[in-house]
Amino acid sequence: MNRREFLGTLAAAAALPALRGQGQGTSTPANEWGTPVFDLHFHLRPKQPKSNLAHLDGAGVTKANLLTRGDVLEQVKALEAAAPGRFTWFNSYDVGKPDAEEVLTQAVKDGAQGFGELKFHVAADGPELRRIYALAADLRVPILIHFQEVDHFPDEGTWSTGFAQTFASVLKAHPKTTFIGHADAFWANVSADYRNEAAYPTGPIKRGGVTDKLLGDHANLFGDLSANSGNNAMSRDAAFTADFLKRHQDKLLFGSDCSCADGHGGGVSQSNNPAAARMAGKCVARETLSLLKRTTAADVFPKIVWGNAHRLLRIPT
Ligand SMILES: [Zn+2]
Ligand SMILES: [Zn+2]
Repeated sequence: MNRREFLGTLAAAAALPALRGQGQGTSTPANEWGTPVFDLHFHLRPKQPKSNLAHLDGAGVTKANLLTRGDVLEQVKALEAAAPGRFTWFNSYDVGKPDAEEVLTQAVKDGAQGFGELKFHVAADGPELRRIYALAADLRVPILIHFQEVDHFPDEGTWSTGFAQTFASVLKAHPKTTFIGHADAFWANVSADYRNEAAYPTGPIKRGGVTDKLLGDHANLFGDLSANSGNNAMSRDAAFTADFLKRHQDKLLFGSDCSCADGHGGGVSQSNNPAAARMAGKCVARETLSLLKRTTAADVFPKIVWGNAHRLLRIPT
């Protein structure tokens, strides 16, 4: 798709909210969650520009943070122009390449408000990521990391390995870096008995897990509740979840990582991940927003789905 086609499909998408005739303008669609919602974890859909807004509007999401990789500035600018105030963006780049720092620095100069998601086949405490942690501190932007050590399909490989063993030392060594943890290993380790036996473990949570402890001990660690990983972890043990969300109410951020077409579970919601079949036919954004809404106090829900992300990204609410 060329730039003109991209802009053309965007213009068509941007017209949709106005056509609904709700008299709310194009930037604030009706919201069913009782509070505005910020989706921290929304992958830019470059090949279907209008589907970006279709997902936000369908799921009742006010604003989203676009996770992008590579040279996307034109596409991001076009989306921002089509729907002013509804998007922020992070950028990612292969951390194994020598020009990674240069490229990511330029992205921040161009308006990116964070790095992410960082999803590469390297160790969480290895040299490739450590230099990016240092850069994030220098540029004062958060860094969102995908931690995963169990395959979803044969030979998928592992990502940011060693979370349970080494990440406490990373947090200590980079106190000025703001980390946002995400994905399978981050969320499975809320339970103290986890030993990489499954991507998405089930059953009651054993208290004192690594992730719970790190969130409590380190001011520079936040948790991204997106994807099947976040939803699954918060669906295992209702008593644990209520207590966990209350204790870490200032450290947790709603995100969807949903790939469904319409914000209602149409299309494919968790890419083609066979291990996340429990989300088939569902919108991850809707599932997790519903879970958070019924599990948190009235003053906590708006923090997790809106306020915390604005504070972290230093943008006005
Ligand atoms: Zn991820
Ligand atoms: Zn969805």
